[in-house]
Amino acid sequence: MSNELVAKGERVLLQQARDRFVAAFNRTPTAASCAPGRVNLIGEHIDYCEGFVLPVALPFVTVVVGALNNTGECNVISVLGSGEEVKASFLAPTPSSPLKPGSPAWANYVKGVVANFPGGVSGFDAVIVTDVPIGSGLSSSASIEVAIFTFLEGLTGNTVGLVEKAKLCQKAEHEFPGMPCGIMDQYIVTMGKKDHALLIDCRSLEAQQIPMELGELAVLVTNTNVKHQLTGSEYPTRRAQCQEAADRLGLPSLRGATVADLEKLKQQNCSEDVLKRAKHVIEEISRTEEVGRVMTEKNFQRVGELFYQSHDSLSQLMEVSCPELDQLVDIMRGAPGVYGARMTGGGFGGCVVALVKKTEVENLKKRVLSSYKGTPTFFVSQPSDGAKLLKL
Ligand code: ADP
Ligand code: MG
Repeated sequence: MSNELVAKGERVLLQQARDRFVAAFNRTPTAASCAPGRVNLIGEHIDYCEGFVLPVALPFVTVVVGALNNTGECNVISVLGSGEEVKASFLAPTPSSPLKPGSPAWANYVKGVVANFPGGVSGFDAVIVTDVPIGSGLSSSASIEVAIFTFLEGLTGNTVGLVEKAKLCQKAEHEFPGMPCGIMDQYIVTMGKKDHALLIDCRSLEAQQIPMELGELAVLVTNTNVKHQLTGSEYPTRRAQCQEAADRLGLPSLRGATVADLEKLKQQNCSEDVLKRAKHVIEEISRTEEVGRVMTEKNFQRVGELFYQSHDSLSQLMEVSCPELDQLVDIMRGAPGVYGARMTGGGFGGCVVALVKKTEVENLKKRVLSSYKGTPTFFVSQPSDGAKLLKL
């Protein structure tokens, strides 16, 4: 079915990458790695307020294979999901000629990691193969970064701790593609664990594994396949409004604020928008902490309620949803076997994540296909492992 995405599995992608490597470079690879995509379960638009996020790693992965080449050049071929290939070559960095961002744009995700790899790297050849949907909000960017980093660890024998790895990959994304991302994506892609979600404290940067034994339930991700082009000021405006609320309360961020502080803001005559944003942030922080707790107790009923509350708050208070996301959540609300559903990611399009009884997934998909106005794609997912080296 074309509206269904099925993970190919790392062994299939590894074989494909290895075959392509042998054909392109006429020898066998010596190192291989993989790193997953991710989806955030709850904790939206609160990372920049020093709140919490609760992502899981997906079974979709990016695989990298390759070998050192003694030429001082880095030659990389990336095979995209469609089968189309992109290629890039650049000189391995030396102290006198460090790497700089440039074109093609996609290669900056690789170069940034090479540039930040501890101890440096000499020339290598590599093939990348992925089934993580690219540019769909499932973090193909962190997936390729962490897969390359892990591959370089295998190639050179130089390794670092997981937190350090995630931070170096985040730094790579800041410096080379120029994307000022938070730490969530690189953390979960690096530290993901099968049947666990990762509760990340965006203030202390500590992360806690949350057991997520779903039993008869599944995580269903539905992509609206829309991305509304807005003015570009939405995200900075939300950030600024949250910071205004924190400043008015004399706090470094809204992390320390409580529901009682909303009264204080009202008395200061701050704008309706600032009040709404602050209410979302304060309540979403407590919802995310609660999901971490009740997930461990397998209280999925409550997890589902909190998903719906989160969605409504993002839609009405944060105002970052869109008609397609709202429609999908409304179709799921009250459908048999659905515990909860919410938009995931920055909003204005992208995906809905839902907790659904496995036996009801097919019925739910039919229901969505018959009433949703757009063309959705679905995948069912279990929380999966983070990046690792693969045996060749
Ligand atoms: P997301 O991380 O949600 O998928 P981003 O815009 O952050 O979206 O990152 C997508 C970009 O990352 C792509 O446009 C491309 O430049 C790069 N990218 C990710 N995965 C790959 C890959 N396997 N091969 C080449 N480029 C990739
Ligand atoms: Mg990304």
